[in-house]
Amino acid sequence: MKSYIVKILQSVYITHDVKCFIVEKPENYDFIPGQATEVAVNLPGWEDKLRPFTFTNLREQKHLEFMIKIYRDHEGVTNLLGKTNAGAELIIHEPFGAIQFKEPGVFIAAGAGITPFLSIFRDLYRKNQLYGNTLIYTNKTSDDVIMDIELRKLLKNNYLKVFTRENVIGFAGKRIDRNFLIDNIADFGQHFYVCGPDDFVKNTTKNLSELGVTSDFLIIEE
Ligand SMILES: Cc1cc2nc3c(=O)[nH]c(=O)nc-3n(C[C@H](O)[C@H](O)[C@H](O)COP(=O)(O)OP(=O)(O)OC[C@H]3O[C@@H](n4cnc5c(N)ncnc54)[C@H](O)[C@@H]3O)c2cc1C
Repeated sequence: MKSYIVKILQSVYITHDVKCFIVEKPENYDFIPGQATEVAVNLPGWEDKLRPFTFTNLREQKHLEFMIKIYRDHEGVTNLLGKTNAGAELIIHEPFGAIQFKEPGVFIAAGAGITPFLSIFRDLYRKNQLYGNTLIYTNKTSDDVIMDIELRKLLKNNYLKVFTRENVIGFAGKRIDRNFLIDNIADFGQHFYVCGPDDFVKNTTKNLSELGVTSDFLIIEE
C-alpha cells in the first residue's frame, strides 16, 4: 500500500472534542469529495496504527484537511492526535471510499459523520450545484455540531438539526427514527446519503428501506 509522509501545517479545535488538521498534500495526490484515507501518526510505535479519516477540503486546494473527533477516554490514535500539532508528521495512504455525490437528495449525518458530506457540499457549492440537497444532522447537543455556521451558509433552509440530549428552542429534540423520517421527508424516491456511527447507519438505512428507498438510491460507506 502506497504511503506518504506529510507534515501538519496547522491544527485547531473546532468543537470541544473535534480537531481540524491542515496537512501537506503530496504531489499529484487527488481524491473524490466524500473519500477518506488511512492515517497514522509518524511516531515510533504508531506508524502502523492506521485509522480512516475523511478529507474535508476542496480537491483543488494545495493542502489536505481533516476534522477528527478526539476520543480522550482511551489511548487510541485520536487521543494521540489530540496532543499532536503543527510540525509533527502523519502518514497517509491512497484515498478510498464509497460515499460520493450521485444526484441531489437527502444527506443524513450523525456527529463526525458530517465530514464526507462537508466535502461534497463545499464542492457542489463551488460549482453552484448545491441547490436541491437537504441535510439532516444529528448530534447529542448543540456543542457537538461541526461547522454549523458554514453549513447554514451553504444549505440555508435545507438544513435541519436534531439534538438527542437537549431541547433547544426552535429545533427538534429527538432521534432520527422511522416517525421522524415520515414527518420530515416528503419524497422517498430520491437519493439518500447516510454517514455516522455503525449503529446509526444500520438503523437509518433499515428505516429508509422500509419506507421504500431502494439500495441503488442509498449511498453509505461499505
Ligand atoms: C471511512 C471512514 C471515514 C472516517 N472519517 C472520519 C472523519 O473524517 N473524522 C472522524 O472524526 N472520524 C472518522 N471516522 C471514524 C474514525 O476512523 C474513528 O473514530 C477512529 O478510527 C478512532 O480511532 P482511535 O484509535 O482513537 O479509537 P479506536 O481504538 O479505534 O476505537 C474506536 C471506537 O471505540 C471506542 N473505544 C475503543 N476502545 C475503547 C476503550 N478502551 N475505552 C473507551 N472507548 C473505546 C471509542 O470510543 C471509539 O468509538 C471514519 C471512519 C471510517 C470507516
